[in-house]
Amino acid sequence: MQKSYDYIILGAGCAGLSLLMRMIDSAQFADKRILLIDKTPKTKNDRTWCFWEKEKGFFEKIVYRKWDGLVFRSDNYSSLLDIFPYQYKMIRGIDFYNHCFNEINKQVNVDIIYDEINSFDSSVIQLTNQSIKVGQAMVFNSLYQPAEKKEDKFYLLQHFKGWIVQADKNTFNPDVATLMDFRVQQDYGTTFVYTLPLNEREALVEYTLFTESLLNNQQYEEELKNYVRDFLKIDSFKVIDEEFGIIPMTNEDFSFSSNGVFHIGTAGGQTKASTGYTFQFIQKQAKAIVDALLQQQDLSTLSFFPKRFQFYDSTLLRLLAKGELGGKEIFTRLFKANKAEQVFKFLDNETNLGEEIKIMSTLQIGSFFKAGVKEFFR
Ligand SMILES: Cc1cc2nc3c(=O)[nH]c(=O)nc-3n(C[C@H](O)[C@H](O)[C@H](O)COP(=O)(O)OP(=O)(O)OC[C@H]3O[C@@H](n4cnc5c(N)ncnc54)[C@H](O)[C@@H]3O)c2cc1C
Repeated sequence: MQKSYDYIILGAGCAGLSLLMRMIDSAQFADKRILLIDKTPKTKNDRTWCFWEKEKGFFEKIVYRKWDGLVFRSDNYSSLLDIFPYQYKMIRGIDFYNHCFNEINKQVNVDIIYDEINSFDSSVIQLTNQSIKVGQAMVFNSLYQPAEKKEDKFYLLQHFKGWIVQADKNTFNPDVATLMDFRVQQDYGTTFVYTLPLNEREALVEYTLFTESLLNNQQYEEELKNYVRDFLKIDSFKVIDEEFGIIPMTNEDFSFSSNGVFHIGTAGGQTKASTGYTFQFIQKQAKAIVDALLQQQDLSTLSFFPKRFQFYDSTLLRLLAKGELGGKEIFTRLFKANKAEQVFKFLDNETNLGEEIKIMSTLQIGSFFKAGVKEFFR
């Protein structure tokens, strides 16, 4: 007979593992039976997460690098941003997975199944090799399935190719990372490069676009090569690792709760539509869920940030998607006219209305206002 579970988590990625780790950490779920399902064990360093944070975070132990200094560059404005009280942090995917599974494997109340999930609802989870009856379990889903495109929504992709570049001599300042360098050609649409030094000789250099379609591999590599040569001024280097990723940037409607299933992570709308940043939103969501469970609060009443931030994201996405104001202009204006601390707070959905009005007034007000009106009446 199949075991019964209290919680079933679909997907052992960032959101599924963050939620489970918080449950384990609280020690209040030790008597609950939990099932985690993913298609394969997490054995690859398949992504690198970067994010800004003020205090020590829940995953502080596995932060691989952090920087107090961040540079922003554009044609007519470059600055070493004062990001205090934030630090910019990097966690490698493989460290995250190993850290989580070291802990999860010690828990006698957690079962793991590796199998492809073909369908699920609040009564049954259909895997390739078996089906799981949900029974009384609460189901958390982190499998993102893009919805059918709607005419009044925007669908951009943040896509990037990154190289870990190893120079043949000391080249990088390990204390300072480049958050965005917009000096590159904007021919395809919003395009920038970020450079995260790992030590004096090695850095992750990531060529990033916010556009509707992908480039081919040769195009990313050509642009990376040009950037390393023309902007980093490195003639001789080796590529010792690489990364490719696609993050959906969309204002499609995401719901946390639907048909008796709770959606978490990107699947639950935790990817910020205007920037693609997700890691910290997942952390906030995981904490809010666990706090609510501990207080026996009805989860369907949870909301993770004020609705007005969706409106700002939709407005920014409209500007980007319609090419009414490129990302280069938007981010240059944001960082030129505001303290980085304020920009980060705004992008974290944590500012108050007064701060938001001030920040938005520093964008090209005409375009922003027009796009905002269109979004409002949409
Ligand atoms: C390369 C890359 C780099 C990124 N860098 C950053 C960053 O620097 N900062 C930031 O804030 N965000 C970043 N993101 C965005 C976001 O943080 C990540 O995508 C994050 O992993 C999202 O977490 P998630 O749990 O929603 O999805 P995932 O981490 O993708 O987890 C989903 C899980 O579901 C499993 N799964 C999917 N389909 C099935 C199926 N049919 N059956 C069984 N299992 C299945 C997958 O194997 C996976 O383990 C990045 C994304 C990528 C792709």
